[in-house]
Amino acid sequence: MREFGTTIFAEMTALALRTGSVNLGQGFPDTDGPPAMLERAVEAVRDGLNQYPPGPGVPELRQAVSEHREDHYDLAYDPDGEVLVTVGATEAIAAAVLALCEAGDEVIVFEPYYDSYAASVALAGAVLRPVTLRPAGGRFTFDPAELRAAAGPRTRAILVNSPHNPTGTVFTRAELEAIAGLCAERDLVAITDEVYEHLTFDGVPHVPLATLPGMRERTLMISSAGKTFSVTGWKTGWICAPAPFVRAVQTVKQFLTFTASAPWQLAVAYALRHELDWVADLRTDLQAKRDRLAEGLSAAGFEVYRPDGTYFVQADIRPLGFADGLALARELPSLAGVVAVPTQVFYAHPERGRHFVRFAFCKRDEVIDEAVTRLRKLT
Ligand code: PMP
Ligand code: GLN
Repeated sequence: MREFGTTIFAEMTALALRTGSVNLGQGFPDTDGPPAMLERAVEAVRDGLNQYPPGPGVPELRQAVSEHREDHYDLAYDPDGEVLVTVGATEAIAAAVLALCEAGDEVIVFEPYYDSYAASVALAGAVLRPVTLRPAGGRFTFDPAELRAAAGPRTRAILVNSPHNPTGTVFTRAELEAIAGLCAERDLVAITDEVYEHLTFDGVPHVPLATLPGMRERTLMISSAGKTFSVTGWKTGWICAPAPFVRAVQTVKQFLTFTASAPWQLAVAYALRHELDWVADLRTDLQAKRDRLAEGLSAAGFEVYRPDGTYFVQADIRPLGFADGLALARELPSLAGVVAVPTQVFYAHPERGRHFVRFAFCKRDEVIDEAVTRLRKLT
């Protein structure tokens, strides 16, 4: 794991703290989740739910996840055997890759990708097969021919993140059909990372890959509470899949963490049942924040890609005369007192993302405005 060093999020948040910069790097909200949900967690602690919960997760949360899948996507998962609670989506992804892949198996991943994907693939001794998302028509997308070419005889799985971090792309039905077609043709398993499932804008729908014909049976569908309920520190996630997959993932999971923290699970079960109106308001707020930051960054001279979902805006730094996003991100605190994340670190081919920097807009308006005021001094 030596080559993985320290994650960019740890590096950039430490840089923000050290320099007193406005932190638009790491994607975490600076306001709290629904108060009644927070209260449920406190109650769970006070009520003594402080010992190991069952390995697969507390029954209330598995039931609530199952109902949520049914209500939103018309997907049926048995809470006993087809739902597994994990320590965030991060553990679900790692355990899924470890469960599915033998050493030397290949996993297709769209680049840029969330940094834990490459690390999880490396931990399994598997091989990453990147397919590049490129800007076209104001959003990032892939070439279906390139996707098909990435699949070989050792390809076992494809990891699909939509809404996509860091580009903000929400895959269209046509894009998902191309992925589903490849899965059927090459007998691939899909691992889907849907942690931003509720955070899409302008009415753009999130379509889970598992809802496409034939895909439920070959998909491990992952999500978590962090983004939906603004509790990224709770690290409570889940995976829904046919029972043999869940059993395999649980076999791995029991030796990674055995089980996830109990109090959060009860609070998240409550939130999935009672706080989806709160989430609808969050989505509306985030859309306005996206526009606020996108307009501010454009005014500061960046070329901005306005995302259909997530917390993040991609900014092309070349109009400002910069060429290397990593160098700029490291200098930005002294140049402008702002921290962002260089997109190139999310690529297997860093040169393809060299001129992009990612800014997070899941922040209070005054924080976004302060960052924009500072960035306008770059010109
Ligand atoms: N996947 C993506 C695409 C993410 O942006 C993140 C960061 N929240 C995660 C997974 C990790 O989620 P969790 O905090 O639930 O482990
Ligand atoms: N998902 C968040 C991001 O992309 C942070 C994840 C982390 O800190 N590991 O910024």
